[in-house]
Amino acid sequence: MSVELSFDEAKQRVSELRELLDRYSHEYYVLDQPTIPDSEYDQLYRELVELEEAYPELVSADSPTQRVGGTILEGFEKVTHETPMLSLDNAFNQEELYAFDQRIKRLTDAPFRYTCELKIDGLAMSLRYEDGRLVQAATRGDGQTGENVTNNVRTIKPIPLRLKEPLTVEVRGEVYMPKESFLALNAEREEEGLAVFANPRNAAAGTLRNLDPAVTAKRNLNFYLYTLMQAGNYGVSSQSEALETMNEWGLRVNPDRRTFDNIEDVWAFIEEYQEKRDSLPYEIDGIVIKVDEFAVQEEVGYTVRAPRWAIAYKFPAEEGRTIVRDIEWSVGRTGVVTPTAIMDPVQLAGTTVQRATLHNEDLLRQKDVRLLDTVIVRKAGDIIPEVVRVDFDARSEDSEPYPIPENCPACGSELVHLEEEVALRCMNPQCPAQAVERVIHFVSRNAMNIDGLGEKIIQQLYEKGFVSNAADLYALTYDQMIQLDKIADKSARNLLGAIDASRTNSLERLLFGLGIRHVGAKAARLLAERFETMDQLKAATQEEIQSIEGIGEIIAESVIAFFDLPEAQELIDRLASQGVNMSYTGPKRSQAEQMDSIFNGKTVVLTGKLESFTRPALKELIEQRGGKVTGSVSKKTDLVIAGEEAGSKLTKAQELNVTVWNEDELTNSLNREETIE
Ligand code: NAD
Repeated sequence: MSVELSFDEAKQRVSELRELLDRYSHEYYVLDQPTIPDSEYDQLYRELVELEEAYPELVSADSPTQRVGGTILEGFEKVTHETPMLSLDNAFNQEELYAFDQRIKRLTDAPFRYTCELKIDGLAMSLRYEDGRLVQAATRGDGQTGENVTNNVRTIKPIPLRLKEPLTVEVRGEVYMPKESFLALNAEREEEGLAVFANPRNAAAGTLRNLDPAVTAKRNLNFYLYTLMQAGNYGVSSQSEALETMNEWGLRVNPDRRTFDNIEDVWAFIEEYQEKRDSLPYEIDGIVIKVDEFAVQEEVGYTVRAPRWAIAYKFPAEEGRTIVRDIEWSVGRTGVVTPTAIMDPVQLAGTTVQRATLHNEDLLRQKDVRLLDTVIVRKAGDIIPEVVRVDFDARSEDSEPYPIPENCPACGSELVHLEEEVALRCMNPQCPAQAVERVIHFVSRNAMNIDGLGEKIIQQLYEKGFVSNAADLYALTYDQMIQLDKIADKSARNLLGAIDASRTNSLERLLFGLGIRHVGAKAARLLAERFETMDQLKAATQEEIQSIEGIGEIIAESVIAFFDLPEAQELIDRLASQGVNMSYTGPKRSQAEQMDSIFNGKTVVLTGKLESFTRPALKELIEQRGGKVTGSVSKKTDLVIAGEEAGSKLTKAQELNVTVWNEDELTNSLNREETIE
């Protein structure tokens, strides 16, 4: 045990631990790319705490135990927190939780209760409202100083730009990325050959600390508030009341919370949520337990790093150890070749796992996974098993680096590693594996949704030469179907029925199913709603496509490039001749959403200095709502938004009788639209 070390040994180990923890923190907080699991970081941190407790003379102000982790990224303005944003101390088992309860009871004689909240794995954020208007959003940073990310935060829809009451208040909470969005983002990045995010927390942090608000707007972040600053000003005297009050003001507060008057009930709550954890739409890494009464909180006080009146109970890491037997390479529909570790079965979060993704060539090399290695596996986003790292101590001496394949496992053509990508790619458009994957994608749930047509069946259809692309599905006959393994009369008829039924799907399903690069389900819907038929989409110019809110240059270019491909046109023609519907028949949902917006279809000009918006951020907001922002005022201008020191554009607008709004009118109307949701 580390506390048994001599002073000199302890000193040496302390310095080693600090160096390691600093390096891991840099990777975690600055690069958003941790290289070790949190549980391992927590273990090293705990070792340092124990050594510092045994030898208090080794404590120094720059030790990770005396600081709040996190650093400020270049490119963001700094914000000094009026009250520091602290971290939380941890408890890893029931004994440590009960010891926390005992500590509090030694520090106060007053009666108190505990409020339990879920510890969502996101990042802490402070929001400042002035007269009810959101004026600043800042990250925790090093606790004293954070990054000003107001422009990005304004694009997170669940955060109201205006409160129901004109309050001046600071509130704090957690920005997070829901599991589903995290998995979709990583899948998209994998297909694009880009580096994947290690967990939703890093994905949320990377998204929020991106200099382009359009990226944040696209990635579906969410927010829960849990701290009301200066709560006494609002007649609030406990954490549970504070949560209730923020909820009443129109701020999002997690309904999964409870207040108890003893630690045994707190433990039962922890156990309950440990069970429920996998079924929640976001990742949680524990439960935060807070003394409910603010008066008692003040009495109990703070350390430099964390409040004494709260603790984060961290769930045991859902990790397992096993041995790699093989590495399998599979080819995706865009040709990206992905390695998967095939392992001895291991229990992980209630399921038996035998396969774990290694994501891409670069990560495989970085992690240096080899055959017969002992590896640590976990579930990313609580769902997808991945190899976290190799236990190098358990590696045999004669082990050799894993040879990266040079040829496509499906078609044998040479694999390439494009410069800006982390993955290997098969560039052969005729590659059978890509063809099968394209059909699998075509029939998938968000695409044509053809029930029962699974991967194995598609593989067989391909091998028998019946189906090599999506259009072939519609020419399948009963006689062909019945030739497949395990397909008898009834399933053959059901499958043909399901294929037939998909002919009438609305256009967005078909568009998504075609697998146009960068066109996800959402972009497909926007395109289908706007252009209504395949022919009209095909005839559209890049500018017209780009003018859709939510569709950027990259998607527009990709759509144009797709329709320029003769193979694409041929496929579409064949689908059409097989009676596949080429028109949009769905509800005009996002149009309706836009229609609700006062900016929809309006041409807007921005002028002068605005207090709470930068130009690019406001432009993004208006475009999201179906408006168009132009540079000069003319008869076609519908609205001019004029800030301080507006000059000739304002005069021109007045001459032409164009409606002019000041900043207050702008925030009022934006806010009205936010609260409609
Ligand atoms: P923490 O995440 O353990 O706890 C503090 C944070 O919890 C708060 O800042 C807030 O963001 C969050 N939180 C969520 N719900 C909350 C609620 N209801 N009330 C209050 N806070 C809530 O501590 P930390 O200082 O943010 O980060 C340290 C942790 O980060 C470590 O324990 C480790 O797991 C991880 N880390 C990992 C690495 C790595 O390399 N893997 C490196 C550094 C840090």
